[in-house]
Amino acid sequence: MGSTRYSRHLALPEVGEDGQAQLALARAFIVGLGGLGCPAVQYLAASGVGCLVLNDFDRIDESNLARQILYRAEDVGKLKVEVARDRLLALNPSVVIECVPQRLSPEALEAHIAQASVVLDGTDSFATRLAVNEACVKMGVPLVSGAAVRLEGQLAVFTNKGKGPCYRCIYGDEDEWLGNCEGSGVLSPVTGVVGALMAVETLKLLMGIESGLKNQLLLWDAAIGRWREVGLRSKSDCPLCQA
Ligand SMILES: [Zn+2]
Repeated sequence: MGSTRYSRHLALPEVGEDGQAQLALARAFIVGLGGLGCPAVQYLAASGVGCLVLNDFDRIDESNLARQILYRAEDVGKLKVEVARDRLLALNPSVVIECVPQRLSPEALEAHIAQASVVLDGTDSFATRLAVNEACVKMGVPLVSGAAVRLEGQLAVFTNKGKGPCYRCIYGDEDEWLGNCEGSGVLSPVTGVVGALMAVETLKLLMGIESGLKNQLLLWDAAIGRWREVGLRSKSDCPLCQA
């Protein structure tokens, strides 16, 4: 590597030269460059994850600036993935950033996810989440899923190896909790905390560090400052992971 960029990682027994080399070989597919995606991809790029594929068709709106911390006032109207790519390359020129500024068909989503080492989903569209989950289950690619609404955060890691559980086992066909953050509102740094946790779990997955979050849903109530975990179980009639 020849630089001190990753020296604090290399000093960790959990990472070291081997872990850092594994990160450099990884390819992460990120769906949604909003309040969760922005902090998550910054940590992944800064940590030296070799290739980041950014998927978001949205342009930056003024209402995004309060929490989507990759973007500045001057970026309003620009494509999120293009601004994000430029900022991430400025942060770490040694990573590769690919932009996918389209809403993907299920087939195109599968093709992208088939190539990925890991998928991060931080979108506020439940339909997109179900499509991403389906592709991850089919392709056997791990999914790191985060959500933040009001003063509440959620995080789950689905390994998608073996018989579930998958995202659909937990949330079914509709997720009333997720709702829509435009309607419900969200406290800005709550998205930052969940996005940073998504990056932590992603790095652990890529380096093969066992996660205590396996088959667990982590819930955070920022209003009272409490975390709790709920055990996740496969649904015996899930048409995806039990097929
Ligand atoms: Zn399932």
